[in-house]
Amino acid sequence: MSTILVKNLKKYYENVKAVDGINLEAKNGEFVVLLGPSGCGKTTTLRCIAGLEIPSEGSIFFDEKEVTRLTPSDRNVGMVFQFYALYPHLRVRDNITFPLRAQRVPLPKIQKKLQEVVQIFQLENLLKRKARDLPPGDQQRVALARAVIREPNVLLLDEPLSALDEKFREEMRSGLGSLQKRIGITTIYVTHDQREAMALGDVIVVMKEGSIIQHGTPEELYEHPRTVFVGHFLGTPGMNFSNCSFYDHRLSIEGTNYSLPLQNEGLLSALQGYFGKELILGIRPEYVKITEKSDEDGYLTVKVLVIEPAGRFRLVDFMLGEKIFRTRIGWDLSIGTGQDIQVKFMEEKICIFDRKTEIALR
Ligand code: ADP
Ligand code: MG
Repeated sequence: MSTILVKNLKKYYENVKAVDGINLEAKNGEFVVLLGPSGCGKTTTLRCIAGLEIPSEGSIFFDEKEVTRLTPSDRNVGMVFQFYALYPHLRVRDNITFPLRAQRVPLPKIQKKLQEVVQIFQLENLLKRKARDLPPGDQQRVALARAVIREPNVLLLDEPLSALDEKFREEMRSGLGSLQKRIGITTIYVTHDQREAMALGDVIVVMKEGSIIQHGTPEELYEHPRTVFVGHFLGTPGMNFSNCSFYDHRLSIEGTNYSLPLQNEGLLSALQGYFGKELILGIRPEYVKITEKSDEDGYLTVKVLVIEPAGRFRLVDFMLGEKIFRTRIGWDLSIGTGQDIQVKFMEEKICIFDRKTEIALR
């Protein structure tokens, strides 16, 4: 078990700043997810932690010990990368148990551990097959089993589920999450898939262009995105945004005659000093409530553009000024395209960003 500490990590390739000064910590037993769009430096960060790359600057510690320049084998890390090579000529069983046999672990103990990982990764029927004969998704499950079986200090996973098809991915995700909790292994997991991040992470670190934008629990990031980017990137679908400005206890929505009355004290105090300034309002679809008709202040009448089924819910699109907004409804409510509906924003859930910096006011 280890704590991982990354201090001011930079990795430059000629003129590409792949990682540009990041600081992060994974506490003992914590599951930390590095989340961000393709090319933002996730893999490079992970490879530096694994010892596969030497940083241009900065340092990495496992517990108190600096490992920045140690080889991967001197760090006792278990790794699974997106395209991980197994021993193709070995059977699945021998691939998985390889690390334990190399450490001369007694056979009964190997059997017991094998049983455990085989169950988690659903490999019962594959044990006798040669690795090279398996499709990529199955190979990836074998690679995961092999990485966790020896219970390394640290588990580093780079998009390990992306080669799997949808059904397996969800099952494997929950298996991996519960296994990690049970063995309590400090884990850093890289993904561009925000749903995976939300499901697995104790802590999510959102990266963009080689830097960290925000880190926090899934709930903190979802409810209080630090930037417009984070609000947009997290959630299915992401947050709704509209330009607005603040006048006299009201948010005036650009491109409309609407202005929302504000009473929430936290919101009002965050808006102190922003009178008349250019702002962005953000609100998650589920916090836009469709209501009974009312003439009360704060209720907006909008026209339904599109209704789209989305599993347990339906997504309802409407225009707010020049922006398309979305809300979520159940299947019980009867609403049609083109119909006028009344909506109300849950005031305590409204996020406000500075339009120039796109950073949240609170
Ligand atoms: P991610 O995993 O988030 O998709 P990467 O860490 O793979 O991002 O890459 C970050 C940036 O660094 C990208 O612009 C990528 O092209 C660049 N990069 C990564 N590895 C190398 C390398 N070996 N040589 C040159 N550029 C690289
Ligand atoms: Mg990558």
